[in-house]
Amino acid sequence: MALLGCIADDFTGATDLASMLVKNGMRAVQVIGVPEAGAPIPEADAIIVALKSRTAPVRQAVGESLAALAWLKSAGCSQFFFKYCSTFDSTEAGNIGPVADALVEALGCGFALACPAFPVNGRSVYMGHLFVGGVLLNESGMEKHPLTPMTDANLVRVLGRQTEGTVGLVPYATVDQGAAAIRKAMTGLKEQGRRYAIVDAVSDAHLQAIGEAAENHALITGGSGIAIGLPENFRRAGKLAVSGDPGALPEVEGHTAVLAGSCSRATLFQIGRARERIPTLQLDALATPDARALAKQALDWVDGKLGTVPVLIAASAPPEVVAALQAKLGREAAGALIEDALAEVAEGLVARGVRNLVVAGGETSGAVVTRLGVRSLRIGGEIDPGVPWTLAEGSGPAMKLALKSGNFGAPDFFLKAFASTGAA
Ligand code: ADP
Repeated sequence: MALLGCIADDFTGATDLASMLVKNGMRAVQVIGVPEAGAPIPEADAIIVALKSRTAPVRQAVGESLAALAWLKSAGCSQFFFKYCSTFDSTEAGNIGPVADALVEALGCGFALACPAFPVNGRSVYMGHLFVGGVLLNESGMEKHPLTPMTDANLVRVLGRQTEGTVGLVPYATVDQGAAAIRKAMTGLKEQGRRYAIVDAVSDAHLQAIGEAAENHALITGGSGIAIGLPENFRRAGKLAVSGDPGALPEVEGHTAVLAGSCSRATLFQIGRARERIPTLQLDALATPDARALAKQALDWVDGKLGTVPVLIAASAPPEVVAALQAKLGREAAGALIEDALAEVAEGLVARGVRNLVVAGGETSGAVVTRLGVRSLRIGGEIDPGVPWTLAEGSGPAMKLALKSGNFGAPDFFLKAFASTGAA
């Protein structure tokens, strides 16, 4: 029976949280969207429902989050976690505040902490202000984000504008005294009628203490960092199996391939590294602006190459090439063309016996997972921080997927990924 039920406002954020829970001793399964009533409940300690609600209309985000909560309750979860980005990505209208308000009401808990801190990734909260590296959130570049510009680093104010409740602060000086002091401060704020407490944290020790203080909270909200302290609560209560590797995945026999649709610098660099070692095809959408034709080129190229050595197929291109395709087709149509083509290639690869697939790019991963009919991902060990191997289950054959958000991973990420499947 699952213990912790999580609702994540985007796909890669869900994986990040799931991976954090596995590293700290919980078996975790990520489900894609809210499962239908009666769908089998995965065998795991934590279940993470991945939504795409970060920038959805408020009503839709609230509706989907409540549906996820209802399903997680039916799966037996006793504590709930609303996961958002460690840079508190949201607009004045939400969706963090409205979703949290709806969850607090549905759970009847009256109060929840809010802590996006993730110190090892440079996100810390001090006096309620969110820092990214050494600078305030609103000077970090996030103030120019195209969808969720963050122009105020004071999270007490930011959340205050999004909620119908009021927001207090548990400051650094209290957090630094440990779990008992944090618990007392949160109880005090709740008694004063505050619905939320922004909780300062600048170290993992703080996150551990906050987790311990929130042991009996029905709802916790934050980034994946705050999940560090939660598994220990279940372990202390004797609810968590202590033996075995929570990230152990069964072996899956089959070929290995990489599909790259991210045009981030990190991914372009990783492709460059891999190209020296394995057969690599660069798709040219400018020459062939047709998804089907591109996919056919790729699959024709693949035929005869699959064996013990992985193959890499990339649409990824430097900014000037991307700009040329966008100028020709329009930004959205260019993205959709490549996503369709890579999704079709993924389907073709699976039909040809690929069972270990690495996908680079957040949107690209979404397109591939949808096309392959994947419904859930059991989270395994990490290849690089935030990118685990996963066991995908759904309408197709069981297979391993590693879904990499564009900027993640070291320069030798693809080679590392192959090494850990034993394929190269
Ligand atoms: P990231 O995680 O780096 O943001 P995404 O997959 O989310 O990567 O986004 C990359 C987008 O760029 C996708 O929509 C993809 O289809 C598109 N794309 C990939 N290659 C090209 C290209 N050569 N020209 C134009 N767009 C491209």
